[in-house]
Amino acid sequence: MTRLLLVGPPGAGKGTQAAILAETYGIPAISTGDMFRSNVVNGTPLGLQVKAIMEAGEYVPDALTNEIVAERLGEADARAGFLLDGYPRTLDQVNELDRILLAQNAALDVVVLLEADIDEVVGRLLKRATEQGRLDDTEEVIRHRMAVYAEQTSPLIGVYDKRNLVVRVTALGAVDEVTARIVDALAQRGISAS
Ligand code: AMP
Repeated sequence: MTRLLLVGPPGAGKGTQAAILAETYGIPAISTGDMFRSNVVNGTPLGLQVKAIMEAGEYVPDALTNEIVAERLGEADARAGFLLDGYPRTLDQVNELDRILLAQNAALDVVVLLEADIDEVVGRLLKRATEQGRLDDTEEVIRHRMAVYAEQTSPLIGVYDKRNLVVRVTALGAVDEVTARIVDALAQRGISAS
């Protein structure tokens, strides 16, 4: 049972790596961003609530985010391990995740921090916005997302560092090179592919 978090600034390649790592380790990749986006696309009540927030590059309120994650982590496949991509992003979410895992008598194994240069990731996001027609597409919004990450999410690294859970991996380079770095770093922590 492997329980991983993938943390890093927007555009560091979390989603891409999450899909590959989920396959490699035989665990579900759980992305709050994807869950919110599909609610928006399907026009659900939650989607209607979060659409404008996402478009502005703000964080969805913790109560809503924590609720969808608690529900998802209660499902059978996630009981046997998971890779969380883009959650937790605030200290309140860290506390909620702790609570969920404690109740399941489970614990995190590793927090993978994808490290990337801000100008590099802004460039990547602008490219992706053009290619995929994402909601979060202007440079202004992208820069705002970076600022929100720096302010609200980067402090989480210190919290997990104190628990000795963080492995740092450079997000630069080809997708398979980054994957190889993560797999190596996890192997050093005694986590091997399934
Ligand atoms: P992502 O694809 O992970 O960058 O998420 C896209 C957007 O969904 C973010 O910019 C937020 O508006 C929202 N979102 C995703 N995950 C969270 C989270 N853990 N907390 C708050 N908002 C989130």
